[in-house]
Amino acid sequence: MADPAECTIKVMCRFRPLNSSEVARGDKYIPKFQGEDCVQIAGKPYHFDRVFQSSTTQVQFYNAVAQRIVRDVLEGYNGTIFAYGQTSSGKTHTMEVSYFEIYMDKIRDLLDVSKTNLSVHEDKNRVPYVKGCTERFVCSPEEVMDTIDEGKNNRHVAVTNMNEHSSRSHSIFLINIKQENTQTEQKLTGKLYLVDLAGSEKVGKTGAEGTVLDEAKMINKSLSSLGNVISALAEGSTYVPYRDSKMTRILQDSLGGNCRTTMVICCSPSSFNDAETRSTLLFGQRAK
Ligand code: ADP
Ligand code: MG
Repeated sequence: MADPAECTIKVMCRFRPLNSSEVARGDKYIPKFQGEDCVQIAGKPYHFDRVFQSSTTQVQFYNAVAQRIVRDVLEGYNGTIFAYGQTSSGKTHTMEVSYFEIYMDKIRDLLDVSKTNLSVHEDKNRVPYVKGCTERFVCSPEEVMDTIDEGKNNRHVAVTNMNEHSSRSHSIFLINIKQENTQTEQKLTGKLYLVDLAGSEKVGKTGAEGTVLDEAKMINKSLSSLGNVISALAEGSTYVPYRDSKMTRILQDSLGGNCRTTMVICCSPSSFNDAETRSTLLFGQRAK
């Protein structure tokens, strides 16, 4: 096994292509790529472990980013992959999975729609978990994909406007892997969390009220507590504020320490989203 001391948080940055409505509007393509790890916006450089240009395919991205984490999880490590970025920047596209979700700080089981407000408990080793969340036993990649589809369908049924809803909630998919070597009786367990975060865009300063404003406050709070945890881990700080949000509490044993954590910073290349893209890139830099 690899030396736990080598464990770090990796931050990757991925730009999607301009979409047809951006092209139709005449938006400019603003990122300038430098080498494999730097992108410039209006002359300012932003550095990451890797930067992926708009032409990167899903297979190229998987091979460069996810493959290694999946391999380590199979060797008994815990891992988490986050996708962070404004709505429509490519988060869901990058994760391809969409289970349970956190909306307005309530945890909803996407494999059993009758469970709408699950709570976080700790086991005897003080490892936090979502109590009562549905678990499925799967033996093949097809069964994993079927489970994902089931969760997606449940999510669609429960809300009227899926696009809006998914931009205001975090979705978390957990794969628990248990392996046993029948000859040596050696057991290995690993966990992989795939986290498709709520849209990071700022809600307009005017006009937002009621539920929209409450949602925006909750999202800002949970994204900023995630940012605080990740930058504390990146700095090697002794105090890591896991308890500040439900998401960081649940992910505690899969963030930092002997774990594999990767944050994928998803960006729009359009001049129209210039300000959001810069703030997204800055969020990513905090983790370095
Ligand atoms: P988000 O989850 O961040 O709101 P999506 O993943 O739904 O954004 O992406 C928005 C749209 O852009 C989708 O239609 C998606 O297929 C497309 N898209 C996103 N990233 C890419 C990419 N790298 N290459 C091609 N199309 C992409
Ligand atoms: Mg999405």
